[in-house]
Amino acid sequence: MLTYQQALATCLAAADRVLETESVALLDAPGRVLADDIVAALAIQPFDNAAMDGYAVYCEDLATATSATAVQLPCHRVIAAGDRDALPALQRGSCARIMTGAPMPPGANAVVQIERTATAADKMVTFTAPCALHENVRHAGEDFKLGDRVLERGRIIATHHIMPLATLGLGKLPVIRKPRAAVITTGKELASSLDQPLPQGMIYNSNHFYICGALTAMGVEIAATHTVADDPASLRRLLLQVMQQNFDLVISSGAVSAGDFDIVRPVLEELGATILFHKIKVKPGKPNLFAKLPNGCLYFGLPGNPVATAAGLRFLVQQTVRKMRGVDAEKPLYARAMNRFVKPAGLHMFLKGSVEGWEDGSLTVDILDGQASFMVSPFLQMNAWVSVAEDVQEIKAGQVLPVFLMTECATAGLP
Ligand code: AMP
Ligand code: MG
Repeated sequence: MLTYQQALATCLAAADRVLETESVALLDAPGRVLADDIVAALAIQPFDNAAMDGYAVYCEDLATATSATAVQLPCHRVIAAGDRDALPALQRGSCARIMTGAPMPPGANAVVQIERTATAADKMVTFTAPCALHENVRHAGEDFKLGDRVLERGRIIATHHIMPLATLGLGKLPVIRKPRAAVITTGKELASSLDQPLPQGMIYNSNHFYICGALTAMGVEIAATHTVADDPASLRRLLLQVMQQNFDLVISSGAVSAGDFDIVRPVLEELGATILFHKIKVKPGKPNLFAKLPNGCLYFGLPGNPVATAAGLRFLVQQTVRKMRGVDAEKPLYARAMNRFVKPAGLHMFLKGSVEGWEDGSLTVDILDGQASFMVSPFLQMNAWVSVAEDVQEIKAGQVLPVFLMTECATAGLP
């Protein structure tokens, strides 16, 4: 049986190429991955401009200004933001009224805030203090220089990137296309609709909804969804149909354990798939299966227990999807355990946790009650998974552990 790290390495090795590039509009870019480095095609600020409403001056003209020895300068010009005419240079010994964002007149080298001046009816402006060179001036290129590499390929674009990208005039971005996935849930016990009362002996197909939600959050396009009962002939038919289409991934839940109806592995083998692992040293999710279909599509056979399905998505599928999109391996955060937890040695565990940050800069994680792999009620308190290596047997309160925030956080531009 492979360890979690070996299983993950197997998945990453199987995802051996980054997907193709396409172009998206800026507003569709958050959550997508940059396919190329972005280079600034202009300087920002584009021109020297005023950072305050006030008066553009030569700071040298105010060198001797005090409240006792005020300097008065004539003002015959008003420059507004958006004024586009080439400005005449400012005459020495004069000033120009200027608004925030307006271009600096050539020669002027500082702006005095309007509140620090007094203006008389004869357009003479009184200054009662000197000002520093470049005071209240925003310089061309102070934010971005022409040719700066502003965002590298492989970065996940986040909503907060929209501001600098739009500032630079980038309306379209090269991104990696979304991986296309087929989702298959297996089980005779699955009720087909959430809108009907639950028949005796049946359960709602929660994995279908969770898998679709999680894949969407990790930037995968759901191209097909299917549910099959536990008979091999139906699954074989379905997989033959799925293999006709150019999916990058198939994600199934259920039917990978040791029960009489665990049909995924025999059907995959019959269809000529290569089983890359089946059963790994993790909890929940020991029965996890990973295979390559004859057409190259990657097949994740997640166990049906809902928590095992969720953990498999987060720790196998999401990491593989990152690789397919050319994103670096995800880094955990580290948090101090609030409570003791005893686990079996020899299995890597994924625990439902609730992370909180404190005034002293520390993070803590509460290992939630209800860790059984069928228990989904803790998902309502949970905001992170705690990842506990196989050699750990006892987590002591205060021990620092790696935690992985829920999928949305990890696709919002966090490392
Ligand atoms: P299996 O992996 O097929 O043996 O299923 C393990 C457990 O997960 C059983 O209790 C199943 O009823 C449950 N299960 C399987 N598939 C789903 C599903 N799609 N939604 C919710 N529970 C499921
Ligand atoms: Mg089943």
